[in-house]
Amino acid sequence: MSLCKFAYHGPETLDEVLALLAEHGPAARVMAGGTDLVVKMSRGQVAPAVVIGLKRVPGLGDLRFDPVHGLELGCMTRVSDVLEHPAVAAHYPALAEAAQATATVQIRNMATIAGNLCNASPCADNAPTLIARGASVELRSPRGSRTLPLAELFRGPGQTVLAPDELLLCITVPPPRAATGFAYLSLSQRSAVDVSAVGVAAGLTLADGRVAEARIVLGAVAPTPFVATAAADALRGQRPADEAFPAAGDAPAEACSPLGDVRASAGYRRKMVAVLVRRALERATARALADGRARTARPAEVTP
Ligand SMILES: Cc1cc2nc3c(=O)[nH]c(=O)nc-3n(C[C@H](O)[C@H](O)[C@H](O)COP(=O)(O)OP(=O)(O)OC[C@H]3O[C@@H](n4cnc5c(N)ncnc54)[C@H](O)[C@@H]3O)c2cc1C
Repeated sequence: MSLCKFAYHGPETLDEVLALLAEHGPAARVMAGGTDLVVKMSRGQVAPAVVIGLKRVPGLGDLRFDPVHGLELGCMTRVSDVLEHPAVAAHYPALAEAAQATATVQIRNMATIAGNLCNASPCADNAPTLIARGASVELRSPRGSRTLPLAELFRGPGQTVLAPDELLLCITVPPPRAATGFAYLSLSQRSAVDVSAVGVAAGLTLADGRVAEARIVLGAVAPTPFVATAAADALRGQRPADEAFPAAGDAPAEACSPLGDVRASAGYRRKMVAVLVRRALERATARALADGRARTARPAEVTP
């Protein structure tokens, strides 16, 4: 592996990171876990003159949860941190499923969730669930800070709306809602070592036994994560046992625009979208029902 020549900076404060980004602009790349960046540098796909490592800046890896504000992931929160955190397991199991689907143990111990998003691969495993859960991202530069819905971060394969002097500082996921469940399922040929050929995040909220709200977001079947709004809206008012669920994957499978590649043909991807959407909705429904039962059984312990 041969890398281009570059200068490495290891700033110790956020202000220093932002000052370096402002000074070097498009010539610089920040490095979180490096699992995408170093691979791309070794292949000559990117050749930054300056690499700004984030690992010495304290606090960037914090993962915080509280029932009122939800979940906050600092930009150095690793995929393994999400996978292992008890609050994620308890309140955001679909995020843990997406983390589990990401690469191998060794990669997950280095890779960050923010890096997964900023790399903007269409098959990034952590993007669909975070979008489905309504996550937002805070982008910080010396010019100030702006917050966007995560879905608006992506512009195309490998492209985001981040300006050259901007850092994705943190990801915020809204608090869990009553009688709501989400699930993430993916398809990959060689399990952990291969990226997903299809990724599906689905979620729903039940009220009086019917779907009050649903979300379906697909990965690896369009240039950016595909939010299947019409298909999710069509589920409103359905009872989970209705015939709507078996066919719920058909509309997103038609609406997405997969490419064929070494991992799967376009046609196979469409077929698997239909299957995985149905299965993810079934799992999300089971979680929403279990949540509803738990809240009825233990009202004193319920978190808002
Ligand atoms: C063998 C292997 C298997 C893999 N399998 C999977 C898989 O199954 N699923 C999957 O989704 N991915 C997979 N990946 C890809 C990769 O591991 C993930 O995308 C990872 O989460 C990237 O995080 P990182 O911290 O290593 O990012 P880095 O490599 O450090 O950064 C990636 C890009 O994002 C930019 N960046 C990073 N952090 C920020 C920030 N805070 N603000 C602005 N820009 C930033 C960097 O400049 C760079 O351009 C795999 C990679 C390898 C090598």
